[in-house]
This record gives sequence, structure tokens and C-alpha cells, in this order.
Amino acid sequence: MLKKFTDKATLPDQAKILFKSSISGGLSNIFAAWMIFVLVYETSYMSDALLLGITITVLTIIRTIITEAYLKQQKFSLKVSLGSYILFTFSVGLIWALFEYTQGSHNDEEIRNIIFLINFGLIAGSTAILSVWLPAFLFYVIPQAIAIFYVFINLDYEHNFFIAFTFLIFMAVMISTSLKINRTRKKEISLTQNNEELILDLNSEIDMRERAQMETEKGKQQLEFKVEERTRELQEANIYLEKVIEKKEEAERSLQHLAYHDELTNLPNKNLLVDRISQSIKISLRDNQQMAILFLDLDRFKTINDSLGHIIGDKLLKEVAVRLHETLREHDTVSRNGGDEFVVVLEKLKSYNEAIYIAKKVINNLTRPFDIHAHKIHIGASIGISVYPSDGDSPLILLRNADTAMYRAKKAGGNQLQFYDPSMSNQLRDRLELENELHTALSNNEFYLVYQPQISAETGVTIGVESLLRWNNNKHGEIPPERFVPLLEETGLIYTVGEWVIRQVIGFMSSLSENDVIFSINLSALQCSNQELLNFLEEEIRKSGIDPSRIEFEITETLLINDFVKTQSFLDKLHSLGCTIALDDFGTGYTSMTYLAKLPIDVIKIDKTLVRNIGKNYNLRSIVNAIVTMSNSLGVKNIFEGVETQSELETIIAMNGDIIQGYLFSKPLSEVDLLRWIGCEPADNVKYFDTYQKNNKSPV
Ligand code: C2E
Ligand code: CA
Ligand code: CA
Repeated sequence: MLKKFTDKATLPDQAKILFKSSISGGLSNIFAAWMIFVLVYETSYMSDALLLGITITVLTIIRTIITEAYLKQQKFSLKVSLGSYILFTFSVGLIWALFEYTQGSHNDEEIRNIIFLINFGLIAGSTAILSVWLPAFLFYVIPQAIAIFYVFINLDYEHNFFIAFTFLIFMAVMISTSLKINRTRKKEISLTQNNEELILDLNSEIDMRERAQMETEKGKQQLEFKVEERTRELQEANIYLEKVIEKKEEAERSLQHLAYHDELTNLPNKNLLVDRISQSIKISLRDNQQMAILFLDLDRFKTINDSLGHIIGDKLLKEVAVRLHETLREHDTVSRNGGDEFVVVLEKLKSYNEAIYIAKKVINNLTRPFDIHAHKIHIGASIGISVYPSDGDSPLILLRNADTAMYRAKKAGGNQLQFYDPSMSNQLRDRLELENELHTALSNNEFYLVYQPQISAETGVTIGVESLLRWNNNKHGEIPPERFVPLLEETGLIYTVGEWVIRQVIGFMSSLSENDVIFSINLSALQCSNQELLNFLEEEIRKSGIDPSRIEFEITETLLINDFVKTQSFLDKLHSLGCTIALDDFGTGYTSMTYLAKLPIDVIKIDKTLVRNIGKNYNLRSIVNAIVTMSNSLGVKNIFEGVETQSELETIIAMNGDIIQGYLFSKPLSEVDLLRWIGCEPADNVKYFDTYQKNNKSPV
């Protein structure tokens, strides 16, 4: 039973309905009470009715405040609110019951009946309002029912039991009605609750479906996105693969290119060259035509490369490649053979003359100076030519023969062309043999020095000697320095042989009795970029105790052109050791006079080709004259070398030349002969001057 009253599921809703009708229920009680007050006004019950009206009003108002507080602000808990509601409802019921009870003694039957009717009405009304929660209904009506029943039984009517019985039936009907209403209400509530649950379920179902649909939509979109992304990835992968393949092909192409081209100049290399020559041979054979191979070697490239460095050397080779292209016909092949060697294939030749014409054009073009990194570089080219079919019928033979011809051109002084002739091959063989011999020449004591006197033009006294290297080979006999000095340079033997010369000269000087003759030593370009030479020299001078100012070094002009700064530093150091420096072969090259002022040059050696011609060529004589004047004004001494005739000597003396060297006085002498020479002079020399003086009548 109790469970029924406190069904947790429906109780809050029951309480809400009950509390909502609290005002209307309360008002009916207040009206009923004050109606009774009006009814009994000015009777003996008036004061009771007034008390009834006031207490009912107050209780009802308090109950309403509590219920409203619950409904609007939920100030009290459901339990407290319901407890208070019961308390006040029961109090109202009890007040009514007390009032009924007092009606038993009411004299005015009419008023009493009206009051009862009003009470019945309230009870009937309460079934509608309070039965939503049975305890409220029961607490309200039971006190009243008991009071009314008691009054009815004690009425002094004959049929008062019948009235009481009828009242009991009325109450039973009311209670059963109330039970029914209660059940219906509760059903309604749980139905509404169920519906609400259903609606909630439905809503959540809808929510769920919507969410599911959204998820599906999202999934679909994601899927589409993924498909797109995948497609894009695949496309990218495709592009990447294509690129990789392209790169691979490119790499293969460049490898292929590399295999057949020279990396530096991008010209065909030897592999491709041999291929092209074979093709050209086939074409020439078919068309009954001639074809030529130009084997080209740059003159002085090695010196430039060694002195100016590889970067400039490389740049120079590239420039050479460009110039070759400019010079040649479109269908001619130019290739780089390695180093400073280039090979040109001239197809469809009409005559030998055409090959000569092209080769000369190439030489002329390469003789123009090159401007590289602020250096003005002068090179030349030696070209050897072999012709198909007369000089060979295979690429290798044609190449070898053109190479041989090139060596010949180089040996003939460079910057020229040379056709192959079979005798050259033998010479090349000799050259190779000589090179081999050179390696053991030093240890076999095959080198020796000769000394050529240098005579003062003023006094006729020998003031210096030039040391000159000789090679007497066991097999080949005497070999001229023009042949073996370049070989020494090419093989790098020049360093050790050069040191041998210095040691030899200083040794010889030390063995001589006190004198002030200057000994000059020739240095090749390679030696002048060698720091070790300076250290070696310093040590030799220190050990010998020789006055370093008696040692002179002869350097050639080419050295100055190649790397001025480097040469300057080398010469400064050499000079600071106390040695003097002579500029050899002056007048044959490109020497600028300004070099003389900037470099520590003490002497210039006017070349024998100038000397040979000063007697014949008036213009040349005035140039040499100017050189002498200039050297005098710079404080630089001059030596005329290669003086062979009396007339040459006279011209030189007339020019105020300083020193004379040449066969006229003496050929280069052995040590013994030199000692004798120095011992007997100046008596011997004076005879030349005597002749001169006789002729000119003016003493020197
Ligand atoms: P160079 O330094 O110009 O030497 C002068 C050359 O002229 C020498 O030839 C000499 O014998 C020659 N000569 C002297 N007077 C006359 C003359 O009146 N008429 C003619 N026709 N010739 C004359 P050599 O000894 O054959 O030397 C040739 C070149 O070899 C030298 O030219 C020099 O460049 C080089 N050389 C010689 N010895 C050495 C050396 O020890 N070291 C280096 N690096 N080079 C050397
Ligand atoms: Ca010399
Ligand atoms: Ca010379």
C-alpha cells in the first residue's frame, strides 16, 4: 500500500499536479469558510466562523507558499514539500472537522444543513483535486468524515441512523471515486512519462540516424577524398617515376657523352676521334678522296701551366678549343687528345695545299695572345700533318705519324707545321732512346761544364764566365744542349741536374785562387718556381764561403711573361741572397722594358741574333743602341753574346756596350783551358782592341 503512495517513478509528477491545484483547492476552502462566516453573521456562531475563516485562510496561504516555492524554485526537496503539504492539508481537514463537531449543537437547522452541504461539496471537490495523491485526500477527508458521522449519529432525529448510514455510503462512493481518479491519474502520468521516453527514444533514434547518415556522408566524402588523394599520389608517383627514368636516361646519356668526350673542353676525346677517323677513312675510300690528320701541340703550355697554375692552364685549353672551332670548317672534327694536344680531322681534302692553308690559319689564330684572368698569355702551336692514304690507312697509324711530324715541328722551334715523312719515325725513336739515356747520365758522370769568357768592352779584361752544360753520352757521343735541355725539362730531371750544375760551378769557384770573376749559371723556367732551389743555393753559398755577388743567374724572358708576380717573388729572394740576375736572350721575345724597372735585373744579355744583324741592318742598330742607352740609364749592365766578328765588336764598342761574349774571343772552355785563359789575359785580348784602336784612332 505504502509503495503505491510513494511510487518513485510517478511521485514527482503526482506532486506537481497536486501542488498546481493547491491555489484553486485553497481558494475553495477559503471561500467556503468565509461564506459560512457570512451565513452565521450576527449569530452566536459568528466568532467560531471568524476563527474558522482566519485559520483556514492562514493555513491555506502557508501551504500555497510552500507548494509554489517547490514548483518555481525547487527550494525544498520533494519529501519536505509533500510532508508540509500533508501537514497543512491535514490541519485544514482537522479545523473543518472541529467546526463540524461544534455544529451538533447548532439550533438553526437550516444554517446547519447549509454548512453540511458546503462541507459535502468540499469533500466532493477534494476527490477531484486531492486524489492524485491518496494520502492528501485521506488526511483531508477522514477527520471531517469522522466529525460529520459523529454529529449525524448524535442528532436527535428519528432517522438519524439512516442519515449517518447514507453519509457512510456517500463517503464510500467518494473514496472509491478518489481511488479510481488516483489510478487514472497515475496511469496518465506513467503514460505521459512513457510517451516522453518514447519521444526521447524516438528523438535519440532520429539523432542516431542523422548522425549515422552524417557519418556515412562523411565516410563517403573521406572515401572520395582518399580516392582523389590516392589518384593524385599515383599521378605524382608516375611523374616521379618518369623523372627517375628521365634522370637515368640523362645519366646514361652523360656517361655515354663522358666516354666519348673530353670533360674540360667538351670536345670529342680519343675514343670518339678514332671512331671518326675510321669513318672518314671509309668515306674517303668510297669517294676516292684525301683526308688529313692535324696533330697539334701547344708551345710553352707546360711552362704556363707550371708557373700560372692549373686553373689558368685549364681556362687556356678551353679558349684554345673555342678558337679551333672558330677557325675550322663545319664538317671538320676537333678533338682533345689529353694534355695540350689536339687533333683535327680534315675530310674531303682537295689538295695538300688546303691542309697547309688550314693548319697555318690555326697557328695564326693561336698566336694571338689570350686574355685569361688579367694575364696576357702568348702561346703558339706546333702542328704535324699526316695524310690518308699516303701516310697510313688506319686511324692509329695516321695518328702516330701526325704525332711524329708534330715533334719535328716542335723541334724546329715550334709555331710551325710539318708534314710527315717516313724518316721522322726514326728520329722519334732516337729521341726516346735519348730520353732513356738521360736518366742515367748524371750517375754515369756524362755531364760536364764548359765556361765561356765575358770580356769588358772597356778594359778587355775577362770579368765573367758563363757556365754551359755539356752531355757526352757513352752511346751517342756529344749531344747539343738544344736537344737535351728540353728533354731535361720534360722529364723533370732539370731539378737535380740544375743543382748539380750549381754545386759544380761553386766547387770550381772555390778551387780558384783569389779573383773577382763573375760566374753565371743558366736557369730554366721550371727551376724558377722551385723554392727548394733557393734553400739549396743558400746552403751551398754558406758552405763554400764564396761571395754571392760573384754568382749570376741567367733567366729567359719567357719566364716573365708567364707569371710575373711569382717570378718577381722568386727573383727578389734570389737577389736578396746577394746573387745578381741576368736577363738572357734579350730582344727575341716580348719583354716589355717596364719589367726591367720592376724586377731586380742587373744585366741584360742581348741575343746573338741581334748581334748578327746590327752590322747589316741600320734600323736594328738604332733599336739596339736605344736598348743600350736605356740599360745604362736604368743602371743595368749589358752583355752582347755571340759576337763572332771584328766588325760586330766595333759596332758594339761604338754603342758603348758593356761586356762582350762570343767566339771572337773564346768558345766555351774546359776548366783547365779557362784557367789558362784567365792566366794569360789581358795580353791576348788586347790584340782585338789594338786592331780596333788602329782603325778608329781613338783609344778605348
Ligand atoms: P744560351 O744561354 O743563350 O747560351 C749561349 C749559347 O750561345 C751557348 O750555346 C754558346 O755556346 C753559344 N755561343 C756563344 N758564343 C757564340 C758565338 O759567337 N756564336 C755562336 N753561334 N754561338 C755562340 P750552348 O752552350 O750550346 O747552349 C745552348 C743553350 O743551352 C743555352 O743558350 C742555354 O739556354 C742552354 N743551356 C746551356 N747550359 C745550360 C745549363 O746549365 N742550364 C740550363 N738551364 N740551360 C743551359
Ligand atoms: Ca745563357
Ligand atoms: Ca743567350
